[in-house]
Amino acid sequence: MNLYFLGTGTSQGIPVIGSNHSVCQSTDSKDERLRVSVWVHWENHSFVIDCGPDFRQQMLKSNCQKVDGILYTHEHSDHTAGLDDIRPFFFKQGAISIYSHQRVIENLKKRFDYIFETENKYPGAPSVKPVEVVNNQPFPIGNKTAIPINVMHGNLQVFGYRIDDFAYLTDVKTIDESEIDKLKNLKVLVVNALREEPHNTHFNLQEALDFIALIKPQKAYLTHISHIMGFHEEVQQKLPKNVYLAYDNLEITI
Ligand SMILES: [Zn+2]
Repeated sequence: MNLYFLGTGTSQGIPVIGSNHSVCQSTDSKDERLRVSVWVHWENHSFVIDCGPDFRQQMLKSNCQKVDGILYTHEHSDHTAGLDDIRPFFFKQGAISIYSHQRVIENLKKRFDYIFETENKYPGAPSVKPVEVVNNQPFPIGNKTAIPINVMHGNLQVFGYRIDDFAYLTDVKTIDESEIDKLKNLKVLVVNALREEPHNTHFNLQEALDFIALIKPQKAYLTHISHIMGFHEEVQQKLPKNVYLAYDNLEITI
């Protein structure tokens, strides 16, 4: 299975519009971060996790040729605002499967009502096939199984996903003991780390490192990173062995 980091930035993306922060002005491409998303593909199967406002650019840059489905973590715009840009895939493939909590499907129906329209639908609008994700109910994606991982983003429920020995968790602040059991024996864990200072709804760096120490994956990659975290080059040097700061367009094989 191939894992491609389409975006590793926090909600505003980096550089932040109009920012004079030194990280926003960095010339190192590893300091440029689109909104958080990954592409996982194996054999002829291809799925993305989240579909934020940078989706179009991310699909062009990664040269992704098809999307069998989108697994949504939650409804926040940095994870969902790119849904309209599935159109080229819809024109080639037909309705695209979207997997999410029922609450997220209802939210998307309000925000993208024209996509879910059943009467007099505009012919250029894309169509989706919503699939409800329920905690403790693994579901098939291609010839593999995705296991939902229930986590909390402050007061908001969010799903992470495990596929084989890989798990992707973003926008986590707290997680129940029962969910931790689902994360045993991972080769690769991707988890959010916003910055060094604490935050109400996201792990900071220390919380992410403590979580990694608890889960003990073979390798961990940090994502959903703010410019305030610092320069990629400098932060990476401070990290423990087998913990990496992810960056856009990083591709690994699992
Ligand atoms: Zn987010």
